[in-house]
Amino acid sequence: MRFLERERAVLGKLLPGLDEALAAHGLTALERPGSPGIAAFREAGGPGLLVAAAHGGAGATAVQAIQVQRAIGARSPSLAVATTMHHFSMAGLVVVSEISNGFEWMLMEGIAREAKLLASGFAEGTSGQNILAPAMRVTPADGGVRVTGAKRPCSLSASMDLLTASILVPRLDGTGDQLAIALIPAGSEGMSVSPFWGSFALAGAESDQVVLDEVFVPDELLVRTDSAPGQALDGIQIAGFLWFEVLMTASYLGAASALVERVLGQDRIPELERVRLVCDVEAAMAAVETVAARLDNGARDSTALAESLYARYAAQDAIARIVPRAVELLGGMAYFAADDVAYLSACANGLSLHPPSRSRMAGPLVAQLGGQPLTIA
Ligand SMILES: Cc1cc2nc3c(=O)[nH]c(=O)nc-3n(C[C@H](O)[C@H](O)[C@H](O)COP(=O)(O)OP(=O)(O)OC[C@H]3O[C@@H](n4cnc5c(N)ncnc54)[C@H](O)[C@@H]3O)c2cc1C
Repeated sequence: MRFLERERAVLGKLLPGLDEALAAHGLTALERPGSPGIAAFREAGGPGLLVAAAHGGAGATAVQAIQVQRAIGARSPSLAVATTMHHFSMAGLVVVSEISNGFEWMLMEGIAREAKLLASGFAEGTSGQNILAPAMRVTPADGGVRVTGAKRPCSLSASMDLLTASILVPRLDGTGDQLAIALIPAGSEGMSVSPFWGSFALAGAESDQVVLDEVFVPDELLVRTDSAPGQALDGIQIAGFLWFEVLMTASYLGAASALVERVLGQDRIPELERVRLVCDVEAAMAAVETVAARLDNGARDSTALAESLYARYAAQDAIARIVPRAVELLGGMAYFAADDVAYLSACANGLSLHPPSRSRMAGPLVAQLGGQPLTIA
């Protein structure tokens, strides 16, 4: 079996034509602002990847979904990161629909059948802010709330059809606040998108800022979770984080795999060196697949979440080993000839920038290993 053959076969089966379209566009075109990758993803049915086939989707399992993300990441790291944010929001809807009688399945079906894209607004551009402690201003309004503030960086900001944004809302029983996800159609009155992302790296992910100015969100478009910031996580949050960690890790392993693939194609590089790189990237992927398989088996517990974080942080270290070795083995001529090697090197290390960071989680993980419930710092 060729390197990445398994992942590309799964991608070809679930989102036919996407791999070929991405390969035809090439890395440089896909990684610029205005990347054609997002349109190709829509055309291939990507928005419905996690939606059950009965509701018009591809019905991917978590294991298949991470294989898809790795295959996409190997062609376009920006598209893999951006679509992880879409799938993260979709996974949240899938989990909520499993336990509620609400309208979520109708929404998922609409998204799959009409190839709609969801942006996922958790971060607000403040270092040190817990992503579960949004600072958007929320005021009560007749039949819902009004929301003011900015979500940044927010991938898919130019192409989204719907923003899913974390906000804190007053509990219905009047006992303080609870975290909720607001579903806000793109183009809603008071919503605008403005520049935020200033880096060349991952510039095809459209990670600019979405500004909300007194945007009205009706009660039926608010999905309330059970917890407040700092409390133990509820099942929906755990499942959401589990999906996020495995999808994002696989996406960046895809970017690292693109470098490994280039090394494998060079017969002049000693076989031992080539196999060493493959061992590192495949072991990291195998760890993520183990967690994804637990997710497929219904795991929604904090032990599985901790395992997803161990797998992700281990993957960060694997990538930090793989990238400089691959660059050295490919050599100066490959580095000078085109942007690919330098670009993929810059992107692959981005995994460490996604929440929750390792340094932030060290305390909570040690506390959990000592028998405490896991919190996201
Ligand atoms: C390509 C890309 C796309 C993104 N797209 C989205 C998106 O669509 N939606 C979205 O919501 N977000 C998105 N994000 C943002 C992401 O979710 C993070 O919120 C953001 O990158 C965190 O920024 P930060 O590292 O400055 O913040 P922090 O996590 O606060 O970290 C800042 C630094 O402080 C350290 N640190 C933080 N807390 C502690 C602690 N308690 N103890 C010790 N050290 C600590 C961290 O390790 C880090 O070095 C994206 C990020 C990237 C890279």
